[in-house]
This record gives sequence, structure tokens and C-alpha cells, in this order.
Amino acid sequence: MTTDSAVAPTVPRTGGPDLPQERRLVTEIPGPRSRELHARRQAAVAAGVGSTLPVYVAAAGGGVVVDVDGNSLIDLASGIAVTGVGNSAPEVVTRVTEQVAAYTHTCFMVAPYEGYVEVCEKLAELTPGDHAKKAALFNSGAEAVENAVKVARAATGRDAVVVFDHAYHGRTNLTMAMTSKNMPYKHGFGPFAGEVYRAPMSYPFREASQVTGAQAAARAIDVIEKQVGADNLACVVIEPVLGEGGFVVPAEGFLPAVAAWCRENGVVFVADEIQSGMCRTGTWFASEHEGVVPDLVTVAKGVAGGFPLAAVVGRAELMDAVHGGGLGGTYGGNPVACAAALGAIATMEQLDLRAAARHIEELMTTRLRALAADVPAIGEVRGRGAMLAIELVRPGTTEPDAALAGRLAAGCHQRGVLTLTCGTYGNVLRFLPPLVMPDHLLHEALDVLEEVLRTL
Ligand SMILES: *Cc1c(COP(=O)(O)O)cnc(C)c1O
Repeated sequence: MTTDSAVAPTVPRTGGPDLPQERRLVTEIPGPRSRELHARRQAAVAAGVGSTLPVYVAAAGGGVVVDVDGNSLIDLASGIAVTGVGNSAPEVVTRVTEQVAAYTHTCFMVAPYEGYVEVCEKLAELTPGDHAKKAALFNSGAEAVENAVKVARAATGRDAVVVFDHAYHGRTNLTMAMTSKNMPYKHGFGPFAGEVYRAPMSYPFREASQVTGAQAAARAIDVIEKQVGADNLACVVIEPVLGEGGFVVPAEGFLPAVAAWCRENGVVFVADEIQSGMCRTGTWFASEHEGVVPDLVTVAKGVAGGFPLAAVVGRAELMDAVHGGGLGGTYGGNPVACAAALGAIATMEQLDLRAAARHIEELMTTRLRALAADVPAIGEVRGRGAMLAIELVRPGTTEPDAALAGRLAAGCHQRGVLTLTCGTYGNVLRFLPPLVMPDHLLHEALDVLEEVLRTL
């Protein structure tokens, strides 16, 4: 049953950057209409599907999400690093609208179209390295990771896959095996795919003593050589900045050393840039911060302004190692999603969202570092660009304080700031604002965070 009463009459139904860029609370959070929808949801939607904050959305754009009760919340989530260009970005809306009116689906494997080709050309241009590249398009990040592994196995004739501690690569069977954290991603869902091995990550805040990037890489390579053997290894898959695992930036030198070892041993180096890519960290891809040129890059989340699109992009000779018909899927590279991606990428170029991400980094880290100097529970402020986090601990230790992170997130939600937690220990508060977020909202969100921290 759908009724108009689900949305308060005064609430905007059109989003995009023209929405008033303000935090405005007109009811408690969640409000009565959200609570009504939530009751309906609980009867209809499987309990295993969670929601961070059950306010039901009416419109969103720029740096805000407006709910069905008319509350306007500051968005520090971007739908998990997806709407970097903002919700309903004009260039996305225009191109999607034109595409929907022209045709919605033919299946690229049945009758192809230009948009798919253009997205592949664009991603070949934007990913690191100037070697010959090719791409293939899919629907979700997990599917992109699965296909990167397929490509690496076909190209090398080897089976094994190495991933790292704290890794998150998705929720399908193979990517669950590749993901590190049991709850909630894996618990009860086994048996998992075989031939997946885990190596130690560089996690500077949690090293017992100072471990350089080179030392951390040597430690990981030792595990790989002893437990797997380069001759058996198809690929190493790594997030250049850990996403769900806690926004950990590995020590300088770690990624280049692992990539160099892969090159020397004929192992495909796959950068999972699903969360860190598409301007999020202040560059097109986070690998660029240390000049790392991956053999394959997985792309999803931020690439299409909110539409389901994912890609594997990489060395042409690797991508072409797969037999004809070996890659694909009914919806992969859907024309509407491709139109959205081209609109999103055009927006990133026109508004220079790489620079915007670097600006957000400077504004936010300055304030977060000042806050950390005052609040001993903030163990570390870290991240790159607009992919930032604070790790919460018991003061004076590195002992994780997940309860505090939870209370902090809840306090922000009550005050109209949408934040997410992450990390293996659940003690990291992460900030993923849309890259088009105006400064005054960033400051206001940080004011709220500070206020909540001081009340706790
Ligand atoms: C989100 C994410 C995935 C999975 O993407 P889905 O679209 O949710 O399947 C994989 N890798 C990383 C690094 C991610 O952040």
C-alpha cells in the first residue's frame, strides 16, 4: 500500500543541489512518518537487511538528505561513498533521463551500445598508468572483485588469491571468503570458496612497535611465500585505503613494495578501489598517492552517481586472456547506469572534485586533530581526502571502544548528522561526505560531533 500521507505535504520531492543546504530538525529522529514506514518495513523486509538510521528519504542533494517528516540531515555517508557528485547531480539526471527515454536495456552481450564503450574508454584514461588498458562492466563491487579474480586466474593459470587482514571485498561467496570480518558479513554463511589466503596488513596505529611500510611488506611477503608460494598465486587483492576495515592508510612504502614483489613474481596486483576511487581520496584513485600502478583496478560505488555500475579495468593483455563469452552478465554495464557514470565523471571533471576532496581533507583534519588533542578517547585521526575517520579507544591505550563509537554515531544521528561506523573492532567513526558538500555544513557537522563528544 502506498499513500501520499507517507510524506508530509511540505517536504520537497525533488532533490539535487538546489535543495536548501541546511540542517533542520522539525521532529524527533526518526519522526512519526519514518516510524510508520519502519513498522511497515519490519513486516515486509527481511530482518537481515539493516539500516544505519531508519529515517525514510524523500529527497537528497548537495550535502543533505531530507526525510519524509521534513527533517534535513547533513550527509556524512554519501550512501557509503557512492554519491560523491551529490544526489541527483544535474548532469547525471539529464543523461539518465535522456537514456531512459531512448532505451533501457538491450544487454551488451546481445546488442551493444556506445555508452558502455565510452565508460570503458573513460576508465582506461582515468586509472593509473599509461599502458594499454581494457575494461569490463558489472553491477556491483563484489561482482567486480569476483571478475578481477577470474581474469587473474585465466591470465596466470594459477589458483590462489591473497588478501589482507581487515579486508572487505563484498558479500558473494568468493568475496565473503576474501573479507576478513566474521560478524556480520560471514557468520553462518559458510562454507566459503577455497584458495583464499590472508596476509598481515600494515595498520600503523595498531603495530606493537614502529613498523615501516617496507618492513610490513616484508612481513606480508614472507607469509605469502611460506604459506602460498608465488608459483601458485594468481593475484594479490588489496584496498589501498581500507574501507569497512577502518579507513586504515598503510605505512608509506607498503603498497609499492607489495606491488613490486607481485611484478617480480608474475602475480597480478589488483587494487580494490571500490570505496577509495573516483576522486574520493583527492586523486582519481588512491593508488596514485604512492605512484602505484595496479595491473587491475576494481571500480564501483562512486563511479555512477548512485546507479549500480562496477568495472574491472586493467592491462589489456590480462583482460584479453579470458576466452570470448567468459565475462559478462545480463545487466552488466546497463545503458542507464552507463549514462549515469558518464554524467558523474563529467561532473567530477567540471567541478574538479579531486580538489574538492583535498579541500575537505584539510578542513576536516584540521578540526579533528584539534579535537583529538583535547579528547584522549580519539586514538587517531586518519584517512585521505574525503575518506576520513577517527579511531576511538580507552584513553591512553589502543584498546578499542566500540561502545563509544556507537554512542557518538547515535548522538550525531539524533542531532541531524548522518555518520557511519566501521572497523574490525567497530570503534571507528568514518566520514564520507559528498564531495560537493558546502563548507558551512562540514563545519556544522563537526560542531555537532564536538558537542556530542563533550556530552559523552
Ligand atoms: C563496498 C565494497 C565492496 C563491495 O561492493 P558492493 O557494491 O557492495 O558489492 C568491495 N570492496 C570494497 C573496498 C568496498 O568498499
